[in-house]
Amino acid sequence: MSTAPLAADKPEMLRLEGVHKHFGSHHVLRNVSLSVRQGDKVVLCGPSGSGKSTLIRCINRLVSHDQGRVLVEGIEVSDHARDLELIRRDVGMVFQQFNLFPHLTILENCTLAPTWARKMGKKDAEALALSLLERVHIPDQAHKYPPQLSGGQQQRAAIARALCMKPKVMLFDEPTSALDPEMVKEVLDVMTELAAEGMTMICVTHEMGFARKVADQVVFMDKGEIVEEAPPEEFFTAPRNERTRQFLCQIL
Ligand code: ADP
Ligand code: MG
Repeated sequence: MSTAPLAADKPEMLRLEGVHKHFGSHHVLRNVSLSVRQGDKVVLCGPSGSGKSTLIRCINRLVSHDQGRVLVEGIEVSDHARDLELIRRDVGMVFQQFNLFPHLTILENCTLAPTWARKMGKKDAEALALSLLERVHIPDQAHKYPPQLSGGQQQRAAIARALCMKPKVMLFDEPTSALDPEMVKEVLDVMTELAAEGMTMICVTHEMGFARKVADQVVFMDKGEIVEEAPPEEFFTAPRNERTRQFLCQIL
């Protein structure tokens, strides 16, 4: 997958142009620009506190940027309610801590958004949810509650829940960082399958094996800036920036 050329003819799904974000006096995103085309897989990495979560949260407005533009399929991300509804439907998100509702079964977690936001009937939503739980290899967990599942199963349920909205883009924020080591692979395998099926993805992760295998582009951030952006073969073998080299030395 990583050897495939970037499809320049594919439509642009996401675009960030000169995005800045401050938290108080802390300048967390500094002139961030990024373009992601349909079907692209982008791995975003960088030291803790470099602004990775803030960047991807600006895409679905969990964080509001304070300068520049963020566009999802050409729609500008702002507080405009109608646009925001469209964007949130089309952009799925998976968090480090799963964020499943503990008092709902896995099936109920999965059907909640389709029935409310997509106005899907209960039966159809359940059929869809079951097919997606099958896709992430946990159909047998549908009627259990999140605390009854392992971390790896919970994260796969969270991925299925996001997929129930039929998103056009998936954002992953360190989806394997909270998992015991033996469960990392089962989640990365599901993400790899999703990538192979053509999903547009931005993954914040330090799983560099995954980056090498799946990413079209690896983006390295430091101190709120995109410092380097390259296909994995180039990023890992010939990083151009000194800060990238230092980072790779620490994690590889
Ligand atoms: P990363 O995901 O790369 O670890 P973050 O985007 O979470 O980095 O954070 C970047 C910086 O912004 C950090 O210094 C963090 O403490 C700060 N930050 C993140 N979210 C908030 C917030 N809601 N309020 C204040 N500061 C924040
Ligand atoms: Mg983060």
